[in-house]
Amino acid sequence: MKVFKFGGASVKDANAVKNVAEIIKCYPGDKLVVVISAMGKTTNALEEVAKAFFYKNGDAKEKLQVVIDYHNTILTGLFEDKKHPVFEDTNGLISALDWALEDEPIKDYDFEYDQIVSVGELLSTKIVSHYLNSVGIACKWVDARDIIQTDNTYRDARVDWPLTEAATNETAGALLNTHSVLITQGFIGCTSENYTTTLGREGSDYTAAILAYCLNAESVTIWKDVPGVLNADPKYFPDAQKFDKLSYYDSIELTYYGATVIHPKTIKPLENKKIPLYVKSFINADKEGTTISDAPMQPHLSSYIFKVNQVLVSILPKDFSFIAEESLSEIFSIFTTFNIKINLMQNSAISFSVCIDDTARLDELMGELKKSYKVLHNKGLELITIRNYTKEGFDKVLTGKKILLEQRTRNTAQLVVLPENE
Ligand code: ASP
Ligand code: MG
Repeated sequence: MKVFKFGGASVKDANAVKNVAEIIKCYPGDKLVVVISAMGKTTNALEEVAKAFFYKNGDAKEKLQVVIDYHNTILTGLFEDKKHPVFEDTNGLISALDWALEDEPIKDYDFEYDQIVSVGELLSTKIVSHYLNSVGIACKWVDARDIIQTDNTYRDARVDWPLTEAATNETAGALLNTHSVLITQGFIGCTSENYTTTLGREGSDYTAAILAYCLNAESVTIWKDVPGVLNADPKYFPDAQKFDKLSYYDSIELTYYGATVIHPKTIKPLENKKIPLYVKSFINADKEGTTISDAPMQPHLSSYIFKVNQVLVSILPKDFSFIAEESLSEIFSIFTTFNIKINLMQNSAISFSVCIDDTARLDELMGELKKSYKVLHNKGLELITIRNYTKEGFDKVLTGKKILLEQRTRNTAQLVVLPENE
């Protein structure tokens, strides 16, 4: 059994959905569990609906109409028969959401967000599964909320592994005895009280890994609009190169440093069961992509990872005392309270510097830190990580940039820089 994951770009319009069907057709003898994200930029559009609904700062229904129109265009491109059951299914999902928008929010924003945003994946999987059946690929739609069991940390739900493993085998595992292709939603799960949760943005890769782990899949394939895992984001690096092979270790490091090609949580479940992960292009499906497994990567290829919108925060004791373990533990607990992840840190005798993503809670964080420390910060920075760095690589990425902080180990260099022309 293989797990496939198709992201938003791979189902962004009617032709893209047709292409997904062509890819699945190439695996006639296989049992497939196919995980699909919301179509195109639907998650962003539904986030706007959630904000307007909860904060009452816009017309939620008007924003929902944009999502409806977009899906209708895709439906029209895929189904000629206006009485096809797909219309009833998708209308049902949309009416339920439309109806919920009439009410007042019942809980906090994160809860409401998950109830609204999850509709994107429900819609996409309904459309794709009906389409596949209509072109002769028999498949079964599975509600991911019957299998992925989570806690109630809305927008960043934690998987309850024992419950999920049992439910996945009972539901999906059993269905695989009678069906060759199962279609389910990425990104979403369910609490013990039957409320919908989400696993964090771009979480569909993680869903694919969870299902592969629970079902002991032979492999996972993530179908993307790039040829595989590249050694740099082609947006910043036009001559980026593809890795043919990467180890689990290297890929988890790359995603940790900010490579956005795979969700960071995807690797661990796969590594734990030694399930290989293939990252392949849905545009050139017959081309070899990147294989992530225990095998080591090509050692000579450097990787360049850029994180923009970074803030460098320097924290100094007010009375010129040393930054010692006690103050560090207090500082870490403040970052934890604000749920802010530290991308890089460095300390000296009397200062502790951290690089973090710019966040809406930055002022609040500063306020809290300033109660006990002198705090300085610098916004609009870039964090550049180079793995397997070379002198030429350094020169290439650093021209015109001012280095504010630098850290190097034998393999990895990290630099916080001011972008060009500033
Ligand atoms: N649709 C979700 C998002 O855009 C999940 C995913 O695409 O993986 O974040
Ligand atoms: Mg996506």
